[in-house]
Amino acid sequence: MNNDKIWLSSPHMGGTEQEYVNLAFDTNWVAPLGPNVTGFENDLSVYLGNVPVAVLSSGTAALHLALLQCGVSAGDEVICQSFTFSASANPITYLGATPVFVDSEETTWNISPIFLEEAIVDRIAKGKKPKAIVAVHLYGMPYLVDEVHAVADKYDIPIVEDSAEALGSTYKGKNCGTFGRYGVLSFNGNKIITTSGGGALVCPSEEAKQHTIFLATQARDDAPYYQHSHIGYNYRLSNISAGIGRGQMEVLDAHINLRRDMNVFYQELFKDFDGVTVFTEPNEDFHCNHWLSAIIVDPAKTNGVTREDIRLAFAKANIESRPLWKPMHMQPVFENCAFYGGKTAFRLFENGLCLPSGSNLTSEDRQRIEKVIFEVLSL
Ligand SMILES: *Cc1c(COP(=O)(O)O)cnc(C)c1O
Repeated sequence: MNNDKIWLSSPHMGGTEQEYVNLAFDTNWVAPLGPNVTGFENDLSVYLGNVPVAVLSSGTAALHLALLQCGVSAGDEVICQSFTFSASANPITYLGATPVFVDSEETTWNISPIFLEEAIVDRIAKGKKPKAIVAVHLYGMPYLVDEVHAVADKYDIPIVEDSAEALGSTYKGKNCGTFGRYGVLSFNGNKIITTSGGGALVCPSEEAKQHTIFLATQARDDAPYYQHSHIGYNYRLSNISAGIGRGQMEVLDAHINLRRDMNVFYQELFKDFDGVTVFTEPNEDFHCNHWLSAIIVDPAKTNGVTREDIRLAFAKANIESRPLWKPMHMQPVFENCAFYGGKTAFRLFENGLCLPSGSNLTSEDRQRIEKVIFEVLSL
C-alpha cells in the first residue's frame, strides 16, 4: 500500500474544467467578466431552482455584501451561529458591527431556535434589536429551517444563510442557499466544488443581484468617466475561475453521491464500536451533501479512547483528520462578544472529529482508514 497523504477534502476535477479555461484564453476573456462568469451564474441559478445568483471572489465576500445589503452598519449587532468557521462572523466586524453568538442544538449541530429567540429577546431588552442573523448549514447539514425562520420572521429579522458548505443539500426538497434573504456559497479549494477560490451570493431579486454586482465591481455610476456615489469593492469572480466552476457543475451531483457513500462507509465502519457516533441526517426532511463526515467520540464507552487518540493515530498513518470547528464564543478574537446557550457547541468541539470525506478517495484509501480505526479502537 502506498503512504500518500489522505486529505479531509481535496479538489476533484471532473475533466471539462480545462476546456472552459482554455475558452477564456482563446477568446482573451482573461478578466473578472466574460462568458464563463455568466455561464457559471446561469448553471448555479438553474441548479438551485432559477434564483438570481452573482458569482464573487469568495464566500467571505458574499457574506460581506449580504450583510451590507441587509443594512448592517457601524454600531449594530448581528446574531451568528457560534459553531462555525470564522468566515461566518468576520464580515460582521468589517461593517463595524458586533457579533452576538448563539449555541447549537443536538440534531443538526446548527443554530438552536430556542437560544436564538432568547438572544433576540434579551438584546431587544438591552436596547438593540439585532440587524440580521447568520445561520449556517455546517458540514452540509441543513439547520432546522422551519423553526429558525419562524423565530426570525416573528421578530422581522433577515437571515443570511451561510450555505458555503451546503451546495446540493436540501431541506424538505428545497435547496440550501435559497431559504434566507441572501444565501452564501463558497468554491474554495476544499469545498464540495472548487474554482480554486470563489463564492456566490444568492439574491432575493434580479435587482438585488444587479446591485450586488455593482458593489462588487467598485460601484461605478453610469457615466463615461469614473464617478462614484457609493463605496465599492473588488469582489467579482474571474472568468478563468468561473471556467473551472462550469466544469465542476457538470460533476456536482456525482460528487455529492460519492461523499454520501463515504458517510455510509463510516456508518458501516463504526457500527460495531461502542461510543463512536457518525453524524447523519435526523430524518427524511434533511438531505445532506456530507461535505465532511464527522464522528463524536465518548471515551466513557470506548475504553478511554479519545478523539485525540484517533486523530493522532490517523496523523501517524499520514491521514488528515481534524477536530470540529472551535466555537466562535471560545475564540480569543471574539472573547468580548455576548453568547447565548449552553454547552452543545463546546462539547461537539471537545469530542468531535472530521474524517477524510473527499469524492476522490479510493478503496485503498478506505482500507488504510479502516486499518487505523481497528488498531486504535480494538484495544
Ligand atoms: C468556507 C466557508 C466560508 C467562507 O468561504 P470562502 O470562500 O473560503 O471565503 C464561510 N462560511 C463557512 C461555514 C465556510 O465553511
